[in-house]
Amino acid sequence: MATDRRHFLKLGLGGFLFPLVGCGRPVPVVEERMYVFGTMVDVAVVGSTDRVQAETAMRTVTARFRQMHDEWHAWKPGALTELNKAIARGERIKTDPSVLELIRGGTEVWRSSQGLFNPAIGALVGLWGFHADEMPVGELPALEQVESFRRRPPTMDDITIDGLEVSSANPLVQLDFGGYAKGVALDWALDALERAGCNNAIVNLGGNLAAMGRRGDRPWRIGVRHPQGDGVIAAVETRGREAVVTSGSYERYREWGGVRYPHIIDPRTGHPAQHVASVTVIDRDAARADAAATALVVAGMKQWPAVARSMGVREVMVIDDEGNVQLSAAMMDRARFVGAKPRSVRVAPGA
Ligand code: AMP
Ligand code: MG
Repeated sequence: MATDRRHFLKLGLGGFLFPLVGCGRPVPVVEERMYVFGTMVDVAVVGSTDRVQAETAMRTVTARFRQMHDEWHAWKPGALTELNKAIARGERIKTDPSVLELIRGGTEVWRSSQGLFNPAIGALVGLWGFHADEMPVGELPALEQVESFRRRPPTMDDITIDGLEVSSANPLVQLDFGGYAKGVALDWALDALERAGCNNAIVNLGGNLAAMGRRGDRPWRIGVRHPQGDGVIAAVETRGREAVVTSGSYERYREWGGVRYPHIIDPRTGHPAQHVASVTVIDRDAARADAAATALVVAGMKQWPAVARSMGVREVMVIDDEGNVQLSAAMMDRARFVGAKPRSVRVAPGA
């Protein structure tokens, strides 16, 4: 495939969307861009869909995204932060049905990830300084504080749902769905667009993309960003309805003493996960892809194939700190290496 980086439209951190115009036959497009979930969000509908209908559907998506952002935020005022405050006080509280859905879905992926994806460790994420819009600077948190979580690790098993009421047996539980909610939002958006008769669409939530149908006469083409540079490392073409989700330790991190501490925390140690630079997952289910991408950063270069299997994701690409690429056999069939040349590429044993 010819590689020309000008032909990529940079839309976020993890993934790129190839431009809607500029190559191939022009297709009718309705597009919307907004800033929500702390990131840039783009929605595009193509094809012969009724324009007014497409615009109405997009407004529905935009409005719901804003509500989700408020309801599900891990540290800004909203339903989830109210719930977290009640848990810290040891109280039960009636919460929003959408939060209950996140808890139920989050518990499933917590289990299938063997506890590596753990949305109950919000307090640890905050302790490392990642409950803030800006990247944290300065000294690391006190290790005794991290240790106190290791003595009584918060898990999704601590949570009890009774009707609309939620409580936790462990007051250290603080829910943070930052590694999952974007995937849930992507699934919801494609469902809503489909219901409105828009069958050819793509949604880009800060580099996490979900698409369905085609962009005119060919599939949607998504580029995966090289974690160690500005360019693209690989391109994939979507098949039917699919999400392409990337988690990167290069997105948000803090630095101290020459070491980089990324925003993804290993629940087993209480410390930021090291060594994996990025994980890209392709899956029909965007929520599962989102949780899996985060979990596989934690799993690391040796353990990721086993965790991918237990989470039921087949198409995975993992890049380490030095730019070495490991893929599953199924991802090897999908990804085309373009742009910045990887240091090495291999199919991981058992993946
Ligand atoms: P993502 O970009 O999807 O990998 O999500 C990263 C975010 O997930 C972080 O900013 C935290 O809010 C949250 N997070 C960090 N570590 C974990 C973990 N081990 N399990 C679940 N969520 C996590
Ligand atoms: Mg994630």
